[in-house]
Amino acid sequence: MADAIDRANQLAEEARDAALARTLEASNAAPAEDPFCEDCGGLIPVVRRERLPSATRCVGCQSVHERKSAHYVQR
Ligand SMILES: [Zn+2]
Repeated sequence: MADAIDRANQLAEEARDAALARTLEASNAAPAEDPFCEDCGGLIPVVRRERLPSATRCVGCQSVHERKSAHYVQR
């Protein structure tokens, strides 16, 4: 059972890495320096990076960042 889960995790990782590599190769827009969120260090999903190549945060951190920014602007 554990072996099957390990194998599934490995396949998922390989698929993700391949998708990320294809995205980086296909993208002529300047991508963010790295695919990791600048706040939490998590990998930014490929779909998000395709839609927003300049994204430097994952969706969760970006929404927190925007809420904080709005808070500071409004006081
Ligand atoms: Zn994040």
